[in-house]
Amino acid sequence: MTDREDGPELGKATRLVEAGRKREWVSTPGTKGAVVNPPVWRASTHLYENSEDLVGGRPNEDGHFYYGRRGGPTQWALADALTELEPGADGTELFPSGVAALACTLMAVLRPGDELLVTDNVYEPTRNIALSMLRQFGITARPFDPLDPDAFAAMIGEKTKAVMLENPGSLTLEVCDIPALTAIARDRGVLSIIDNTWATPLGFPALQHGCDITVMSLTKHVGGHSDLMMGSASAAKPVINRVRRQAQFMGQVVSPDDAALALRGLRTMSLRLERTASTALAVAQWLSSRTEVAAVLCPMLPGAPGHELWQRDFAGGCGLFSFVLKDADIAARARLIDALELFGIGFSWGGFESLAIPFDPAPVHTLRPWPPGIDEGSGLGVRLSIGLEDADDLIGDLDRGFAAMGAT
Ligand SMILES: *Cc1c(COP(=O)(O)O)cnc(C)c1O
Repeated sequence: MTDREDGPELGKATRLVEAGRKREWVSTPGTKGAVVNPPVWRASTHLYENSEDLVGGRPNEDGHFYYGRRGGPTQWALADALTELEPGADGTELFPSGVAALACTLMAVLRPGDELLVTDNVYEPTRNIALSMLRQFGITARPFDPLDPDAFAAMIGEKTKAVMLENPGSLTLEVCDIPALTAIARDRGVLSIIDNTWATPLGFPALQHGCDITVMSLTKHVGGHSDLMMGSASAAKPVINRVRRQAQFMGQVVSPDDAALALRGLRTMSLRLERTASTALAVAQWLSSRTEVAAVLCPMLPGAPGHELWQRDFAGGCGLFSFVLKDADIAARARLIDALELFGIGFSWGGFESLAIPFDPAPVHTLRPWPPGIDEGSGLGVRLSIGLEDADDLIGDLDRGFAAMGAT
């Protein structure tokens, strides 16, 4: 356990077991021993020894208790763990949701008059933050095509201060060349922020690939059990200090109960990612043999769009991918989804249970027909979040769905 300085680089699963378990978060008061997990420290108030102690503390910076809004040992243990898992990060801020993390991070780095470039295949609420919410503060935003680094470079102007990336893209799962895009951004003094929820640092160490801030919805893989909402932003100093300051201005705090749940999820994350990725690949392979399917949008699948870049840049995948139907109309797609018994119908993903939702990227992806290069097909998409069930059972369920889709 803990406070390990040197030694050979540990594997992913080991790092997840070790992360954040500093002695100071787990020692048992009054004994020399410790517990495995940090206790849930429910506290708004910290009592100081005396008034000098109260004025002398350096609130929050290095884990000094100050006031509940700045967290306590349970939240710090989680933040520490996430920092340790993100090579190149000096700190992590926690937020009550992934969207809160995205909104606050963007507000931390942008000022009135600045421009943000936002990838066209970004998560829709991020697009709305960029194009609507930030406008209230005099910040403009323009979408760019993530698959065209030259066009991206040409869009960067005097006012451009940050770029919002996501890889692979939401719903359509294109993989872009993050090292190329972030090199262009850095060269022009533009800060790169990435939504790294899909891959997590285990699959894509984003700061090592040139990003300055990496944001995750912990609701997905870290929580892993569909029972909590949380977000994070990790970065090196001094950038993380700007995010922390903004988070404190805005009163962002997560409960110690949720932090403990997130820590519990984190310990098994690599097992879940490996398992859901391999099941997803089996399901994706099966889907690609179906005549009802125009395209399988799964970067882990050989021959699928983005597979080569995925192989070059990623050390792992996950259970989330999409497919596009060939001749179906909306009613046929609904028959398919409604016939599924093992897949729930619901937003979110990354849980132990499989989910399916219909999607149509056209209204949110504006710069080219998405997914690019797929002109055969109805354009009607289905997104699957593959859980921990057996692959054969999920394939059987989808088979039932296709039978229902064909039967009119
Ligand atoms: C779900 C999601 C978010 C938002 O996270 P919440 O915790 O639901 O607010 C952000 N980015 C991506 C890619 C997501 O899928």
